[in-house]
Amino acid sequence: MTSYKELGLVNTREMFAKAVAGGYAIPAFNFNTMEQMQAIVQAAVECKSPVIMQVSKGARAYANGTILRYMAQGAVEYAKELGCENPQIVLHLDHGDSFEICKECIDNGFSSVMIDGSHLPYEENIALTKKVVEYAHAHDVTVEAELGVLAGVEDEVSSEVSHYTKPEEVVDFSTRSGCDSLAISIGTSHGAYKFTREQCTIDPQTGKLVPPPLAFDILAEIEKQLPGFPIVLHGSSSVPQDEVDTINQFGGKLPDAVGIPEEQLRKASESAVCKINIDSDSRLAMTAAIRKHFAENPGHFDPRQYLKPARENMKKMYVHKIVNVLGSNDKL
Ligand SMILES: [Zn+2]
Repeated sequence: MTSYKELGLVNTREMFAKAVAGGYAIPAFNFNTMEQMQAIVQAAVECKSPVIMQVSKGARAYANGTILRYMAQGAVEYAKELGCENPQIVLHLDHGDSFEICKECIDNGFSSVMIDGSHLPYEENIALTKKVVEYAHAHDVTVEAELGVLAGVEDEVSSEVSHYTKPEEVVDFSTRSGCDSLAISIGTSHGAYKFTREQCTIDPQTGKLVPPPLAFDILAEIEKQLPGFPIVLHGSSSVPQDEVDTINQFGGKLPDAVGIPEEQLRKASESAVCKINIDSDSRLAMTAAIRKHFAENPGHFDPRQYLKPARENMKKMYVHKIVNVLGSNDKL
């Protein structure tokens, strides 16, 4: 049993309360590799931002859960070395799908877990969430639950259709489950292909796809039902067109990749949305830099040569999100 407190990590309780009151959102960046972790910490320290480093089932399968936990501990020490006296770093399980996996993470240094029972019938989602909450709270770990279903593909999580969260259910769900934050479905979607061509309109000037707007009316109704309660948005990458263009220019093939416009995420950050999940944008930033590097330096074969620009490009993206989209800078 390793408590996250021994690792220098924090849970989400205090940072969410401050974010809701302050009208900004905490970045939740997924990580799988050392370069991603370094870029996340560098960006958070430079911007003086709290940060959630999150680990999906796919990340645990790829990198090993134990290694990721020590990387999170390393992230705290690295932040201090970079001059941050009091880093606010959360290690969060993204899309836990069973009580057992949540318990395993809580027992091994995670400070926050998500139990995703959104695919279950309503009462079963409450019962599973409540079971996780009871165990987590006994260890001062915070719990994110999900109500409503997001479309798209993220590691092992996938759904073809979305079901918007029903505002009339949120009070009953959060009260009876005891969750600390609630992921909702208002039109965001997992992955780099969030919308089909048919769901989008075409910008007449650029010819680019314009995604359907988020359901801000539903978000407003949820806030009215649960004033001040921390709300989470999954699937909130913006799929930056310049990164997609770079990838396609240097041999990639990502036609019609489309994300959530940053203006909409900025607007959501100013509301009760206090955690915004970003994964695909980091993947795109890394891949764009590596493809460009290889095209321009065909003789290179030392991973440090192409992972360095990849790390720099990810850091640039993280800084941009923190400062220009989420507004979590200068909050430490
Ligand atoms: Zn998600």
